[in-house]
Amino acid sequence: MNPFSQLGLRHDIVNALTEIGFEKPTQIQEQAIPVLLSGSSDFVGLAQTGTGKTAAFGLPLLELLDFSENSPQALILCPTRELCLQIANDLKNFSRNINDVNIVAVYGGASISDQLRQIRRGVQIVVATPGRMLDIIGRKAIDFSGVRYVVLDEADEMLNMGFQEDINDILSTTPDEKKTWLFSATMPAEVRRIAKNYMTDPHELTVGTKNTGNSNIEHHYYVVRPRDKFAAFKRIVDINPDIFGIVFCRTKIETQEIAEALIKDGYNADALHGDLSQQQRDKVMKRYRDRSLQLLIATDVAARGIDVNDVTHVINFSLPDEIENYTHRSGRTARAGKKGISIALVTPKEAGKIRHIERVIGKEFIKSTIPTGIEVCEKQLFSIIDKVKSVEVNEEQINQFLPKIEEAFQDFSKEDVIKHLASLEFNRFLNYYNGAQDLNSNESEGRGRDRDRSDRGDRGSRGDRYGREGGAQAGFSRIFVNLGSVDNFDRGSMLGFICDNAQISGKVVGKIDIKGVFSFFEVESDMAEKVFNNFKDVDFKGRQVRLEPAGDREGGSGDRGGRSREGRRGGRERASEHQGGFRDFSGKRRERRSEKKRW
Ligand code: AMP
Repeated sequence: MNPFSQLGLRHDIVNALTEIGFEKPTQIQEQAIPVLLSGSSDFVGLAQTGTGKTAAFGLPLLELLDFSENSPQALILCPTRELCLQIANDLKNFSRNINDVNIVAVYGGASISDQLRQIRRGVQIVVATPGRMLDIIGRKAIDFSGVRYVVLDEADEMLNMGFQEDINDILSTTPDEKKTWLFSATMPAEVRRIAKNYMTDPHELTVGTKNTGNSNIEHHYYVVRPRDKFAAFKRIVDINPDIFGIVFCRTKIETQEIAEALIKDGYNADALHGDLSQQQRDKVMKRYRDRSLQLLIATDVAARGIDVNDVTHVINFSLPDEIENYTHRSGRTARAGKKGISIALVTPKEAGKIRHIERVIGKEFIKSTIPTGIEVCEKQLFSIIDKVKSVEVNEEQINQFLPKIEEAFQDFSKEDVIKHLASLEFNRFLNYYNGAQDLNSNESEGRGRDRDRSDRGDRGSRGDRYGREGGAQAGFSRIFVNLGSVDNFDRGSMLGFICDNAQISGKVVGKIDIKGVFSFFEVESDMAEKVFNNFKDVDFKGRQVRLEPAGDREGGSGDRGGRSREGRRGGRERASEHQGGFRDFSGKRRERRSEKKRW
């Protein structure tokens, strides 16, 4: 018997849970479901994402609502479109064996008329992000006078994103006697205030320790000099050949640049941030969910609500400005009872922040050392050997070629075959890491700056700050633009777009590099200012087009981009780790525009 039935759930719901593979309740489900099933009290649940919160409130809701009545009875508010869709989808799965259940997901960035149409057809459960919900209420398109339950999911995130006013306005349209269930990963004063203002004597439940990260997450930190950060990051990725990770950066520009530098070095990565259109974000997320992307480079806001299981590593390329965000970041791994690793890369000056985070999450970090080149090579070698051992052999197909294969190897001993097979992939790593330095910084906190300056030498001028080889050819400036192949641009259409908007002739445009969600192009340096000026107010399908200087360099670099980009995992050809330097991120180009408006 499925243990869910012991919590008081009816058999058609328990059957659905069995069908979708929920064999036993998680801790929060076990503790919250019996309380919520009574339907008689307000509720505050302190739980991280990934603990099974959705079922903890969703299953009792399905028990308590009257589906013979086709009017709004429950409203679930959550911070992001991704989470909204996820919750609506989960509820549909849980109620797959119940008749006449109508659930509508209401969120920004999608057609409002479709959502209005669904509401008009009749709905009992509305799952919504606050902005779009308020819009629909403003159009008097929904009547919440019969709402009996309101769920505020990821309440701390909603407040972080500035939805406090919207939530107040939405709740004021619901009856006073409704029950409110609030879920939050953390309990800052603002969330306490909501609980106090909107709830009467709520039943409180904490899963794990308050403000504590998931106990299945191991936290590691590495101290590296600023200019070595990118190389150190790549070593961490390389020593984890099966990594499926989310890499957090602080700004949209940093996110974009890291993704671009990784792609150029042959990694399977892409960027997710608020400058992308909804369609672009959906494409990137789909690739990540399908695992055709191995590394997702994201800003905090863009990654909110991402619910992808099996994320092995969260990497804080830069620490978040708000320590609370560290918990949200690391909560993207170790979901649904799995284990995960959260990594922080810190400069010597930032090392003290680790103690601060430890106090907030109530857990100690493990101080780790950046692996040496030899260690990475060894790990990669054995990963290759494991792949050779576990590859599925199609006996039928291979048999017909065996005689010829054996003939080709006739002068090879068994040892030779093994050596050659392993070297096929391994040589790339050997070459790449040949003579690699120790990247661990042994500096004590506060001495980072001097060392950074004195160590930089001429490395900084050899490449850009990620040690990339890319740069403009002599006399040209290289420019980043936030449009790419996902916007259906190819080199020809991009050239037309640039010339039309910048009012320049195609003759002054150099190489155009089309990427997924962004691109680079070169223009003759004396035209660059005109291009930037004329692009100030250009938009593409309602989205502002953003140009940025992209690491100009005196003198040419020969072949740019086209070389290593072909490489993907298993086919890499990377720029040497030792070329180019990584400069501190305190540079002028730091950007901290709010992404809120775009959601
Ligand atoms: P949530 O915290 O609700 O976002 O859930 C996190 C993940 O755990 C989701 O992918 C759920 O489908 C999964 N999950 C939730 N409860 C259970 C359960 N009792 N058994 C197995 N998986 C679960």
